[in-house]
Amino acid sequence: MADEREEAGWKQFLEAKVAEQEAQIASLKEQLEQLKRQKGISSARDGLTFNSKTGTHVDQAAKHYCTTCLSRDQRWELKVEPHGWRCMICKKYYSDPDRPEVVDHRPDSWMT
Ligand SMILES: [Zn+2]
Repeated sequence: MADEREEAGWKQFLEAKVAEQEAQIASLKEQLEQLKRQKGISSARDGLTFNSKTGTHVDQAAKHYCTTCLSRDQRWELKVEPHGWRCMICKKYYSDPDRPEVVDHRPDSWMT
């Protein structure tokens, strides 16, 4: 009887271990996927930081790059305009909140 009880306890212990490791594996897989994604886009985005205020990517020299083009693994420096930046490749316009236009012109041009 003692053996049976011990065995049941052991089985429970093993099942708990397996569940624990499965959870670990799942989280590692997730991390791996994340790293793969980061690796895939690192070449074009190397050294660039996403600026959530402007929607552009910025390098250490404070130059702005097109986020849309970066998502296609292409790094294009944006042309500086009076109130924002323009990508000469995909024509996407990024407005600069620090240089607002007089007319309230919201950049809802996500479709372009
Ligand atoms: Zn672009």
